[in-house]
Amino acid sequence: MLNTPARVFSGAKTEARIKGRHGNYAWYLIKAEPIESVDAEQNFVLLAVESRSTNEDSDEYGRPRIGTLGLWDQIPIWSTRADGYLDYANDLWLKCAGLSFQQAMGWGWADGVHPDDREGMTEIWRMLVEKQIEGYAEARMGSDDIGWRWYLSRAFPSRDDNGTIVRWYGALFDISDRKRAENALRVSEAYLANAQRVSQTGSFGLNFSNGALYWSDETYRIFEQARSEHPSLEKAMARVHRDDIGLVQRALDHSAVHDDEIDFSCRLVTRNGGIKFVRVLAKPVKGRGETRELVGAVIDITAARVAEDKLMQTHLELAHVSRVTAMGEMSASIVHEVNQPLSAIVTHGGACLRWLNRSEPNLLEATTSIEHMMAEAKRAGEVVRRLHAFAKKESSARALVKINDVIMETLPLVNLQRQTKRIDQRLDLGDNLPEILADRVQLQQVLMNLVGNAVQAVAQNTGIESGSIHIQSSRSAEGELAVTVRDTGPGLIGDTLNRIFEPFYTTKKEGMGMGLSICRSIVESHGGRITAGNNADKGAYVRVVLPVNP
Ligand code: ADP
Repeated sequence: MLNTPARVFSGAKTEARIKGRHGNYAWYLIKAEPIESVDAEQNFVLLAVESRSTNEDSDEYGRPRIGTLGLWDQIPIWSTRADGYLDYANDLWLKCAGLSFQQAMGWGWADGVHPDDREGMTEIWRMLVEKQIEGYAEARMGSDDIGWRWYLSRAFPSRDDNGTIVRWYGALFDISDRKRAENALRVSEAYLANAQRVSQTGSFGLNFSNGALYWSDETYRIFEQARSEHPSLEKAMARVHRDDIGLVQRALDHSAVHDDEIDFSCRLVTRNGGIKFVRVLAKPVKGRGETRELVGAVIDITAARVAEDKLMQTHLELAHVSRVTAMGEMSASIVHEVNQPLSAIVTHGGACLRWLNRSEPNLLEATTSIEHMMAEAKRAGEVVRRLHAFAKKESSARALVKINDVIMETLPLVNLQRQTKRIDQRLDLGDNLPEILADRVQLQQVLMNLVGNAVQAVAQNTGIESGSIHIQSSRSAEGELAVTVRDTGPGLIGDTLNRIFEPFYTTKKEGMGMGLSICRSIVESHGGRITAGNNADKGAYVRVVLPVNP
């Protein structure tokens, strides 16, 4: 009996006498061919053994005596003439195909192949015979009765010393388990792809050693890249907003040497010039061998960011409306409360005149009328004083605040508006600025207005470079705190320069014209002042100066 050699190199061939089943020796040509298995790690070796003894040439069916050795009983094998005509198949092969040898002979074997795979399999076999090359095909074999199993069928030609094909040999390898696993994998991949689609979460893998990048379908979608294009770090970086490239590069550099997870958000520029917000979560892992890989997820958070911004906007609008409503109610009550004493004064004044205009003026009555007038005027004064006290009480939530904190708290509120218009932002925040006693919410309101106006002004710019805003905090020469918001918009044109702080002065279609006038009253109630003007080069500035010890 033959043992499978531990290692056989291609084309090994020898002749030897081998003891057959019946105890007699016969000459055999033994050929060894390495066959690469499905799992490339392992080498199956298929041995072709041809009988050289004439009396052993064929069995009772006329099958050449190939494979009478024990090894063949373990592998389903077949063999054909040089022209592809099947004239040998061992019992195991016939069992797999659910055929008798008579049925399988010639080209009849195709009946053992699943109808759906038959044409493909036959075509591949014809092609191999025609091109005279070895090859393989995958197909289901069996029958409805015995069931269908998946096989990998390999075929290779055996050549004589001149290189002419004398026979073909082949074997079947059962790959049903692999196919089942592949199917299960396909199903689970389909689920995963759907889940990624629904959650707008793509996955990626980056090999630090060779820069190879893997993307899931959803990642391709997020980066708006065709599935046919190979992803690369370079192409991915080209999508990142230029202000965020530094951030992304730092995160990558960090992961190349540190093992902790990274989690950051950045902007992508879409093909039509829009902005997409993504969050990236990733962890460096050890890949095969000594390679280092970064594996992670990229989540499209644009919708969430827009919703968040809308919510914020609604909050601000609500606050605005309630302020306006409160102002309206307050003015109504002022009108009502002050009107009463005023009309009483008019009435008493008229009476006083009548007393004085008599032919004999009644000074006593006139004096009483004047006393009434004075009492009413006092009442009006009292109403005004009460309203003033009320207004003062409303705005007395003062505490020590750091102006830079207020700036940093306010910026996110206008970020989306700024980022979607691709407006850059520069911050120059002074160090060691003193804290001031102020109403934090009111100061936020002031900054919101100034930065909001600056963004709106820059957004009017046309052209490729949309422009920028610049926010600076510093200590003035007099020791006061100064916050300046500059922009590269159209600047303060014509009337605007003088009227900018006037209540209800607006040049915007949807404007109220109350923003800056409210800013002014807030700044003044803090003992500070607000000014506006045009920058030397381009755009406008608004500057708020606040005393450190009001
Ligand atoms: P609104 O923004 O509702 O119009 P504001 O009181 O905030 O009210 O502004 C009044 C007007 O001042 C604006 O309509 C605009 O014409 C002008 N303005 C304010 N800020 C700027 C700026 N940064 N650049 C140019 N014009 C500005």
